[in-house]
Amino acid sequence: MIITFYGVRGSTAAPGPQTVKYGGNTSCVHIELDSGNDLILDAGTGIRMLGHRLAKKSTPANLLLSHGHWDHIQGYPFFEPIYQPDRDIHVYISVDAGRKLLSTLLSQMDGTHFPVRVEDLPSNNIAKFKGIESELYEREGIQVVKQALNHPGGGTAYRINDNGMTCAYVTDNELFPPEAPVTGYDQWVNYLHGVDVLIHDAQYTDNDMPHKHGWGHTLISQLRQLATDAEVGTLVMFHHDPDRSDSELDEIQIENEKYLKSRRAPTRSLCAAEGMTITLEKPVLGGETRVTIGQLSI
Ligand SMILES: [Zn+2]
Ligand SMILES: [Zn+2]
Repeated sequence: MIITFYGVRGSTAAPGPQTVKYGGNTSCVHIELDSGNDLILDAGTGIRMLGHRLAKKSTPANLLLSHGHWDHIQGYPFFEPIYQPDRDIHVYISVDAGRKLLSTLLSQMDGTHFPVRVEDLPSNNIAKFKGIESELYEREGIQVVKQALNHPGGGTAYRINDNGMTCAYVTDNELFPPEAPVTGYDQWVNYLHGVDVLIHDAQYTDNDMPHKHGWGHTLISQLRQLATDAEVGTLVMFHHDPDRSDSELDEIQIENEKYLKSRRAPTRSLCAAEGMTITLEKPVLGGETRVTIGQLSI
């Protein structure tokens, strides 16, 4: 399993001199499964560059959507494979959100918001809806376990299993919302227990509170507690606030490392950055999953 980050920003794209190191594109993560199949997590503006890479392939482009907020769908009209004749595009969505979310994704291409309309695409490229009905979805070479997010308007988290390696994608999510949570803290600890990689919303710091309590995002101080309690292998802080500068993220990373060291936690902490790759490999003779961090030039 190879995980590559194409967009790591939350709320809105934030290019500029303050975000060069971590990147300004909104949510999009690519997972290449051991089978060679591609899974795309969300279609924020980062999906544009991923599209150029996937255009060199002919296998189905499988998009797994968390929810329909702009920062998770806005790059879709710029995704090159949707313009390739005979390219299959599959959009996987929890049935709770269902076809309404698919229509939110596609209605951006209505001739008003974007010049090309959905009906102008080659027929194969009009996204096919794949509803994820039960908690565990295990079809077409894809195995995911879903969980409801604590977020205004709802949304879905996914834990992806691939040959015994696991990556959980949990954004956007407020661990302790002001109202009763859809998924409580203990449920998150169980759901995420022992995952190799946790990609989680890390938009806010303690200084953002109480003003942004209830906006649907997690405090980094609470997230590192969760990663420790769930015995996560690698925590990836994701969905950075658009106003968070590179130097502020560097400081947050240092704070996280100090915290994990003080707790003697085996968890490694990383700040998601565009082009960062995480390669997971199972040793042939068994044992712990090997994790290698790299950087792709995109
Ligand atoms: Zn978001
Ligand atoms: Zn959202």
